[in-house]
Amino acid sequence: MNKAFKAVKGMNDCLPAASPVWHYLENTLRQVVASFGYSEIRTPVIENTQLFCRSIGEVTDIVEKEMYTFVDKGKDSLTLRPEGTASCIRAAVEHGLTYNQQQRLWYMGPMFRRENPQKGRYRQFHQFGAETFGIADPDIDAELIAMTAMLWQKLGFADTVRLQLNSLGSNEAREAYKLILVNYFKDNFEQLDKDSQRRLDSNPLRILDSKNPELVDLIKNAPKLNEHLDEASQLHFTNLCNKLDVLGIDYQINPTLVRGLDYYNRTVFEWVTDALGAQGTICAGGRYDGLVKQLGGQDTPGCGFAMGLERIILLLEQQIELSTKLSPAVDVYLCMLGEKAEIEGLKLARKIREQLPLVRLQMHCGGGNFKKQLKRADKSAARLAIILGDDEVVNQSAGIKFLREQREQLLLSQDDLMNQLVELLK
Ligand code: ATP
Ligand code: MG
Repeated sequence: MNKAFKAVKGMNDCLPAASPVWHYLENTLRQVVASFGYSEIRTPVIENTQLFCRSIGEVTDIVEKEMYTFVDKGKDSLTLRPEGTASCIRAAVEHGLTYNQQQRLWYMGPMFRRENPQKGRYRQFHQFGAETFGIADPDIDAELIAMTAMLWQKLGFADTVRLQLNSLGSNEAREAYKLILVNYFKDNFEQLDKDSQRRLDSNPLRILDSKNPELVDLIKNAPKLNEHLDEASQLHFTNLCNKLDVLGIDYQINPTLVRGLDYYNRTVFEWVTDALGAQGTICAGGRYDGLVKQLGGQDTPGCGFAMGLERIILLLEQQIELSTKLSPAVDVYLCMLGEKAEIEGLKLARKIREQLPLVRLQMHCGGGNFKKQLKRADKSAARLAIILGDDEVVNQSAGIKFLREQREQLLLSQDDLMNQLVELLK
């Protein structure tokens, strides 16, 4: 026998049993963004490599070690997108969507990073994100955060997630702060790990983002970015906090929150949970006012977020009542006994699908006796079986068997069946 193939490491199949929870999440996401008046944008999963190097930053985990980059047969260097913001801006600029206008966009799809796979961290994973363009005021920062807060509420885990908030200030103020920070770390050079020593020159802010537990105290005692903010950014941040207060959205100001990507300024935020172990960040975002211009567009403010859907699915799977929120693939299974019934069944199935499109009806295929057909019906997870035999064909009736409850079998006329089926499934 030939050896069977396996999926590429860190890349998951979404099997039929898992798809109802994905549908539930995706539908809820779509519904929430729609209620805020956002439009969907879809971009290719492959972009020119330089797009990501220039936006995310050369000295970041993503660009240094995580990108799937290859040279295609035309000798172009291409990269599987590791995140959505750069592609979104590329598309918006290319098609003139940022030119003197405001945009509120969302996207959803697979992203690719060559990381060490573990729970909540994969090489192909899925993000849902929103990006807004052309709005500098903090009302949009508040709107984006409110949107995510509403989502947690709808998904039923608002109690287990916390909002962490910080401001990175203007680029100028941040440059000034960097000097102060570098001095502090230089004074404590020996305590830094290798990665951080290297980053002291190239990207000192990133040291604050280090996940190394041995650096916790050193980072905690470092000079605080939010004590060195420029006045305009300070005002922007206060205004955002006031709006969150009005909405009753709790937050913790975390002065060491800097985010792993280079393009942020002013607002940065993360939604975190303790329920997932080390992979605790389920959503992260902030403002990136310089990025559109940096990628060749007009100077346009931007603000957005991205969330990791696999981590949210893990949270959903911890809910005891999850199954009650999910729609099964099959509601009704149609059993047919005998040739005449098989012909009658074809017609009845078509009628149900045409007239009751919300009913998910699976028709038995492959023949066999009643017992075998009922076994299949049971396995399909359907709640009802419709049974057609010779008598039913003659009488234009149908038997209804309740597969998940102790209830007497019914015999209905086919007209009554059409009228009552939706009700019977409630
Ligand atoms: P982390 O610190 O966990 O590596 P990050 O800062 O690299 O996250 P972002 O680039 O901000 O993550 O992506 C936004 C969100 O996407 C994260 O908060 C997380 O929920 C999710 N995410 C990022 N990388 C992965 C991955 N490899 N597998 C699954 N989800 C991911
Ligand atoms: Mg990462």
